[in-house]
Amino acid sequence: MDFEVYRLSPSCDMGDVEEGNTYLGRVQGFASFGTFVQLNDRIKGLVHKSNVRTEHKERDTILVRVRTIRSNGNIDLEEVVVPSYQIQTVEKKSTSIQLSELSRKVGRTVRIEGEVAQIKQTSGPTIFTLVDESGTENAAAFVEAGVRAYPEVELGDMVRIVGQVMQRNSQVQVEVGSLTVLVGEEAEIVRLRIEKALDERSEPPEIPFLIESTVLTQLRPEMRKIARLIRKAVFTSQPIILRHHADADGISSAVALEQAVVALMRESGGDFESDYFLFKRAPSKAPFYEIEDITRDLDFSLKDHVRYGQKMPLIILTDNGSTEEDLASLKIARIYELPIIVIDHHHPDAVVDQYLIAHVNPYHVGGDFGVTAGMLGAEIARMVNPAVSDAICHLPAVAAVGDRSEAPERGRLLALVQETYTEEDCRQIALALDYQQFWLRFNDGRELIKDILNLRNNPDRHRALVDILVSEANLAIKEQLSACMPHVRRQKLDNGAHLFQIDLEIHAHKFTFPPPGKTAGEVHDRLCQAHAGEPVVTLGFGPDFAVLRSRGVMMNIPKMVRELRDEIPGGGVSGGGHLVVGSIKFVEGMRDAVLDGLTSKIAKVDVTRG
Ligand code: MN
Repeated sequence: MDFEVYRLSPSCDMGDVEEGNTYLGRVQGFASFGTFVQLNDRIKGLVHKSNVRTEHKERDTILVRVRTIRSNGNIDLEEVVVPSYQIQTVEKKSTSIQLSELSRKVGRTVRIEGEVAQIKQTSGPTIFTLVDESGTENAAAFVEAGVRAYPEVELGDMVRIVGQVMQRNSQVQVEVGSLTVLVGEEAEIVRLRIEKALDERSEPPEIPFLIESTVLTQLRPEMRKIARLIRKAVFTSQPIILRHHADADGISSAVALEQAVVALMRESGGDFESDYFLFKRAPSKAPFYEIEDITRDLDFSLKDHVRYGQKMPLIILTDNGSTEEDLASLKIARIYELPIIVIDHHHPDAVVDQYLIAHVNPYHVGGDFGVTAGMLGAEIARMVNPAVSDAICHLPAVAAVGDRSEAPERGRLLALVQETYTEEDCRQIALALDYQQFWLRFNDGRELIKDILNLRNNPDRHRALVDILVSEANLAIKEQLSACMPHVRRQKLDNGAHLFQIDLEIHAHKFTFPPPGKTAGEVHDRLCQAHAGEPVVTLGFGPDFAVLRSRGVMMNIPKMVRELRDEIPGGGVSGGGHLVVGSIKFVEGMRDAVLDGLTSKIAKVDVTRG
């Protein structure tokens, strides 16, 4: 039988070297006292000149027997010359450790396996973000400052890394000694192992809702599915873009989800800054996912994909996304295979569902807009991360009041938090959100919004900020109403409804708070008070738009908009919203025709009294 020679695989460390065994080595260099020989990239020993048998040059292959391994880690070798031999590869004996264990292994050399979730080239090393069944951590590989290490590695590859665990600031990181891209069956085994564990880990905990609710109970399976998808995105370092309507309901829904996701990201490791690198909350001006929004989101994501090696994002739309108005953006998103989740309470058009991976909407189970996006978002947030439950439990009450919900859930949510927040507190917070968001425009105003919602552990500042915002908002509303109320035109329709019209272009302040929609709402509230128990429709219009508010009138605004679009050629009619609250756009030259058409439709719908 041939002489046995061992070859250490790249992942082997000192623990895999045995005294007395002969190894395949490579001459690394020479000193006056002997020859240095590498057994793999990380292990080297010395052949004393008295034990050198033949002549060598650098990088020559050489057979060496291990004489002794000293306590300081130095290895004494002697050269072996044999006529023939067979090679046996030594795999690392120790098994891989999970990423969540790294913080307990600082200073040690470890082996890890995982999926590459991000490849970021810094001015120094290349940073590979790895995901395994337990969490996500970074590994730094260095060849030369700013030069990409292991250029063969691609996003989504399964890799095995051996390296030393280092502590950087509050973050652990593996300094890559060797990196191997796993292929074939080996890669598949690791992929399946991680996938299975991630699926289990992504399963949301079984927790009861904050309140009793038939609608929520029926929606629970879809809500759990969404929570599962969000948890998995977090665990796999997939970026998340959260889009929401920029009103109190949409903000409450989105902020509840933001709190849950960011806390879960921190918990599961990853980049120190990753929570804001991988998570973005962005308000949409209209309750639709507009082309402008998808354009920004795609531009941002594609650049990050190319520049930072990030995955393409999961898109979550809340308080928008469920109607025909969203279709164009959803179609664009599909080109890039962006997965989209909708959490909405607008009257849904079934046509959107083919573009979504999940969609929760009270209309799917016979409910209506009274179960608001904020209620749905907060419950999903609690499923994503129950740890935030106490902190966010007042958000759905703010949403309910902000969106004027009349569903039974409203009262239950208010009762839940009444010790800390009265109904008036919730109303003020909702108004403060609307007012602040008006000045924030497209910005998320993350920390300011958290102060308004009392999520920053500074109740005094929360109170002071809400107080000033509310008094400024009320002042602005009062000013606006004193200008426009005298110009309201009134009309009694055939169906008995009062129709009030106001030209917001010439009788309201422009480009300030309250904007046209809010102004129409405030006008409507006063007219409803003045006509208690009677059906009321308020129509505020400008040169090319109209906003509708109604009470006691069984309208279906999205349907009216579609009919007007067909009936008025050249009217350029579009729009939508809720059934009884919405907005319509048209071309300026056809305003009278559109408003007349609208009025005659309103005059035909059924009214309720009381
Ligand atoms: Mn809403």
